[in-house]
Amino acid sequence: MKSIINYLKEVICGVWSLLKGMAVTGKYFFSPGQIVTQKYPNNRKSLVMMERFKGEVIMPHNEKNEHKCTGCGICEINCPNGSIEVISKMITTDDGKKKKAIDKHIYRLGMCTFCALCVKNCPSDALAFGQEFEHAVFNRALLIKVLNKPGSQLMKGVE
Ligand code: SF4
Ligand code: SF4
Repeated sequence: MKSIINYLKEVICGVWSLLKGMAVTGKYFFSPGQIVTQKYPNNRKSLVMMERFKGEVIMPHNEKNEHKCTGCGICEINCPNGSIEVISKMITTDDGKKKKAIDKHIYRLGMCTFCALCVKNCPSDALAFGQEFEHAVFNRALLIKVLNKPGSQLMKGVE
């Protein structure tokens, strides 16, 4: 007799918890409130990630194809896993002085842990985090990127 009573109690508890769960589902079905889920990938074109999202390290350029990277190499030194390689070159400025400048700022996205040490420690604020997150590729070499664009130059006023 006791086992039958326990069995019935378990059935009633099960039905009660099911009804409680259905009540929560029903509430959100008829009155969703703030929707935080995204219809990805259907909304690819309109999707805007959170401001703090770290998709990849980028080097912003302005409309004149200028960036703020001086080629100092501090980001390379700070990167804990060798994701950055700064290749610099010597250039002659308009007033005839020799000056170090960036040749290639190489970023290995496949190794990056998004720790932000490079972005935070860049003395000229040349790096940032981009919003792109669809990085899947069949060839991992495609995850090695040159952040300074072809033909780009150091922004005027950045030393
Ligand atoms: S990105 Fe910043 S820290 Fe890295 S080489 Fe350029 S100026 Fe230096
Ligand atoms: S975010 Fe961190 S791991 Fe990635 S490149 Fe910068 S310093 Fe290296």
